[in-house]
Amino acid sequence: MAERPDPLDEIRSSLADLDAAGLRRRRRIVTTPCRPDTRLADRDGPVLAFCSNDYLGLAAESALGQALQAGAARWGCGSGASHLVSGHYAAHEALEARLAGFVGMEDALYFSTGYMANIGVMPALVGRGDAIFADKVNHASLVDGALLSRAELIRYPHCDLAALEARLAASTAPRKLIVTDGVFSMDGDIAPLPGLLALAEAHRAWLLVDDAHGFGVLGPGGRGCLAHFGLASPRLIYMGTLGKAAGAAGAFVAGQGEVIDWLINRSRSYIFTTGAPPALAEALLTAVDLIEHSDARRTHLDALIARLKAGLHLKRWQLLPSDTPIQPLVIGDNHETLAVSRALDAEGLWVPAIRPPTVPKGAARLRITLSAAHSLEQVDRLTDALKRLEARGA
Ligand SMILES: *Cc1c(COP(=O)(O)O)cnc(C)c1O
Repeated sequence: MAERPDPLDEIRSSLADLDAAGLRRRRRIVTTPCRPDTRLADRDGPVLAFCSNDYLGLAAESALGQALQAGAARWGCGSGASHLVSGHYAAHEALEARLAGFVGMEDALYFSTGYMANIGVMPALVGRGDAIFADKVNHASLVDGALLSRAELIRYPHCDLAALEARLAASTAPRKLIVTDGVFSMDGDIAPLPGLLALAEAHRAWLLVDDAHGFGVLGPGGRGCLAHFGLASPRLIYMGTLGKAAGAAGAFVAGQGEVIDWLINRSRSYIFTTGAPPALAEALLTAVDLIEHSDARRTHLDALIARLKAGLHLKRWQLLPSDTPIQPLVIGDNHETLAVSRALDAEGLWVPAIRPPTVPKGAARLRITLSAAHSLEQVDRLTDALKRLEARGA
């Protein structure tokens, strides 16, 4: 029998393959708080960052840091146990009530991260023999949630309601779950939620909406994508994350009271993990207040989006149609996209290159994200640099 390769050698050679393909990922070390004017350990001088999901500029907001300090003074650091044992504190309970009221749902459940919320909710709703209908470009955590559930995963072309309707009609699965990003994380467009909800109601399916990029940004008071369309239904399950516009960490799932009770009883990523620090829940209560009273930040963000779109008419590179702070500039070729990202870096501008498999082949892009913490002049600096680079044939 041939000797099996040493498993560590296998990993070494796989890493070398990634290196050769230019696909090995490395983390850059940030030495400032999360803000546009950033410094990195691997370069001298400041960089202007267009990469965070801190859409309202709350991540480094002093009121939030102070709320976290006050929370730590009141609660200390750890929760000591999972929520169902002894790790569920008054701060968590208050946060859930506040979030449910804020998004207009009966009840809400606070998870440690959005990834954990998605992988916890989907297997609690459907299982073997059931069917999940998923937009082709949904976030990876929704794909993983579907795989964990063991339900059949049926994908439909991006935002294609007719294709989804045909797949729903053809399915004999006893339980059906439609899942979608509210705002698509690599494209920036908004899901056709009124149409999706109509299909969910017609086919007695759940509609799970992952609003990681809409919560805090869209809808009156930043209440998210459902509020943006004015949608309500017992079929709806809403997932919002708290590490993006809310500027902290965590996520919540909101819906009918019985659905939330069921999740408390069946969602494994909720049950089998230590409760998040209660001080964080305290800070998040302040984050929800800040979101609710951030109309000025959202208005400024809209002005930044309009400025970028007005300024960035290029010949070869295409901004995708998006009215959200996610403004992807499709360059196409992997190497060219990387070269543009590096040329921007040389000018002190940090915009990440996103390549397959995160996006489809031939659709490599710069993922520009805007934050209320940016200024109009900073957006102009980016558009000027991109125009120059395109003209130069970077
Ligand atoms: C970021 C993101 C998540 C994961 O949320 P975390 O709180 O960062 O774990 C889930 N869904 C989408 C669409 C996201 O963009």
